[in-house]
Amino acid sequence: MRGFAGRGRARRSGIRRAARTLTPRVGRQRKPVTDADVAIVGFGIIGAVLARCLADRGAAVVVLDAGSPMTSRAGSHLRNLPISPADPGYLNDLVSVHLRRATVGSAPTSAMAAARTTNLLGGMGVLWNCVVPRLVTQERWPGIADGEWDRLHRRAEDLLRVAPSPTGQRQSSVISALGGAEPAPIAFDGLQWTGPAEIAPDVEVVPHRAVRKLIRRGDRVIAAETVDIATSKPHTVTADNFVIAAGGLRTPALLWTSGIGRGLPVGHYLTDHPLSYAQVMLDDFPAGDPDPVAIVPMSDDHPFHGVLLTDSHGSPLLEGIDERRVLSLYWYTATEQRRDNRLVFTEAPTDLFGLPRPTFEYTFTAHDEAKRADTLAAVTAAGKQIGAFVPTGKPRRLTAGNSMHVMGTTRIGTDGIDSVTDGYGLVWGMENLYLGGTGLIPTATATNPTLAAAAIAVRTAEHLG
Ligand SMILES: Cc1cc2nc3c(=O)[nH]c(=O)nc-3n(C[C@H](O)[C@H](O)[C@H](O)COP(=O)(O)OP(=O)(O)OC[C@H]3O[C@@H](n4cnc5c(N)ncnc54)[C@H](O)[C@@H]3O)c2cc1C
Repeated sequence: MRGFAGRGRARRSGIRRAARTLTPRVGRQRKPVTDADVAIVGFGIIGAVLARCLADRGAAVVVLDAGSPMTSRAGSHLRNLPISPADPGYLNDLVSVHLRRATVGSAPTSAMAAARTTNLLGGMGVLWNCVVPRLVTQERWPGIADGEWDRLHRRAEDLLRVAPSPTGQRQSSVISALGGAEPAPIAFDGLQWTGPAEIAPDVEVVPHRAVRKLIRRGDRVIAAETVDIATSKPHTVTADNFVIAAGGLRTPALLWTSGIGRGLPVGHYLTDHPLSYAQVMLDDFPAGDPDPVAIVPMSDDHPFHGVLLTDSHGSPLLEGIDERRVLSLYWYTATEQRRDNRLVFTEAPTDLFGLPRPTFEYTFTAHDEAKRADTLAAVTAAGKQIGAFVPTGKPRRLTAGNSMHVMGTTRIGTDGIDSVTDGYGLVWGMENLYLGGTGLIPTATATNPTLAAAAIAVRTAEHLG
């Protein structure tokens, strides 16, 4: 652990206890924030994990998020809205409408045309499906020992309030029909789905606050230039340490626009989970039957990660079909990691937050193409074991980016040639600038990435404090 040794004011005092009670705040920010041990950019799942862990360790933390709050409790999962369980179609529509096209000008066939960002406070963490399996051993970055991965995963599971998905009639029939399927670990405590606000309920969050540029002096970030996107007022935020957890696309964009990490592979090693998809019809079920959520974990015999749930936001259904009887099958696979797969930034155009929008240079190798074909065959076989395909849900490969799992763009590693940060998320060559998010995952994986990113964030917080 590095602790705070050698870090200015923090060196003298260690992490200070927050001077006031910190509660999530919604509305227009009043004064510039100038007195934090750690300023965190982004209140998605990963920003919330970092904020919670650092606040628990006594740090004065401020979180800046450019997004707009959708709920009275800023950053709560939209599934916790009372209307959501009553009307799953409404939730599907909400998710679709809030996923905005990330890129401009890329050829849809060769690039990641389906990649999305959201402009909501809480990021994808207010929209996600909450399926949180651990990485299997062969997917884990070997720079962290297996025992430590287990400990970090456990802590991340506590913070995300993970439990096995409840058993109901549909869940049981899916699991008995499909060999290898098991209840999914989900971020749901039985009452509330986990979004950022559920992870870090007592942390100060400044909404509508877009960080446009990090100001650097030597190997330290000394301030962040921010704009209140509701009023267009600029503010400068200072802190002893900065953590950027702005998502797999916007974190590298902020580094790029700040001129930080120019010699590092920022935005390179772009990785996604190629995805094959199908939908099958389930039998009728009793009232109150909990929605099924199952996984088929990756293994030597099954080099894919399968997720099965009743969520059809990716695929409009025919009128009259009950969404809760439609099981979506998502089959992910791992690709080869290549430096040439990358995000390309230019000064313009910018997104709503004022960051450069990327274009994607992203292609599949022959090896990747073979695995994509295998994935389609695997999801087809799995669907047939469960039931009949819905007419609009025949097995198919989805466009790159559809997984919503952008990885590798700010990867951890052992040197500044092949990675952007060290194993603790500290940017190479910088003393007080840390990163968080799925962009840090450097290995070939097929498993949903958010728990692993949260585990790495726990490690970062422990290192910082
Ligand atoms: C529909 C859907 C379902 C999913 N289901 C799963 C699943 O079941 N399991 C799984 O593991 N993953 C799932 N994912 C992916 C998962 O949601 C993401 O991996 C995870 O939420 C990423 O968290 P994050 O905090 O790194 O980034 P984000 O969620 O992107 O959050 C980044 C935050 O930073 C803020 N921000 C960005 N730029 C700035 C700036 N310049 N200044 C200030 N703030 C800024 C944003 O407003 C946002 O709140 C799903 C995603 C979607 C869309």
